Amino acid sequence: MKRRELFSSLASSFSKKEKQEKVVRPPYFLQSDESLFFTNCIECEGLCSTVCEENIIVIQEDLTPKLDFSNSGCTYCDKCAEICPTNVLKIENKRNIDVKIEIDILSCLSWNQTMCFSCKDPCFYEAIDFLAMFRPNINDNCVSCGLCIKTCPTNAIKISNKMEI
Ligand code: SF4
Ligand code: SF4
Ligand code: SF4
Repeated sequence: MKRRELFSSLASSFSKKEKQEKVVRPPYFLQSDESLFFTNCIECEGLCSTVCEENIIVIQEDLTPKLDFSNSGCTYCDKCAEICPTNVLKIENKRNIDVKIEIDILSCLSWNQTMCFSCKDPCFYEAIDFLAMFRPNINDNCVSCGLCIKTCPTNAIKISNKMEI
């Protein structure tokens, strides 16, 4: 393989990998069989996205669903799993969404001497601790619902892949 082809192939596989890592799936798939999204979702018209009351399920070009936390978060209401006709999403596979939610201390107002509690209120799980009214940290109660993400005025709440931690 020529050098240029090699680089272009590496770049393309890297960008594919990056895209894959950023896809946040609904919380009802069998982790050991994520390939079902690719084999089964093509037979469906994206039903899960039509029942999500939070409107956070987006059907991608490859016809598989991903979560988008930019306007809301997951309430773990089960509806996407209940309607899934192809057993990709199943109630018995329910678990927390498979990402880690973190606060970027460089962008967070409260970590930079400006009082802000915007992320605390929408969290139903008491998962954000403030140290003497400043310096919020996400604790082990976090269920990765993403509800806090849109409330941050500086976009300081980040999603990371658990595998990278
Ligand atoms: S569990 Fe409910 S809120 Fe969460 S993605 Fe599924 S339908 Fe949407
Ligand atoms: S309802 Fe099930 S099969 Fe249909 S797009 Fe959603 S996950 Fe895929
Ligand atoms: S801290 Fe965790 S549990 Fe609380 S709103 Fe944010 S993502 Fe949800």
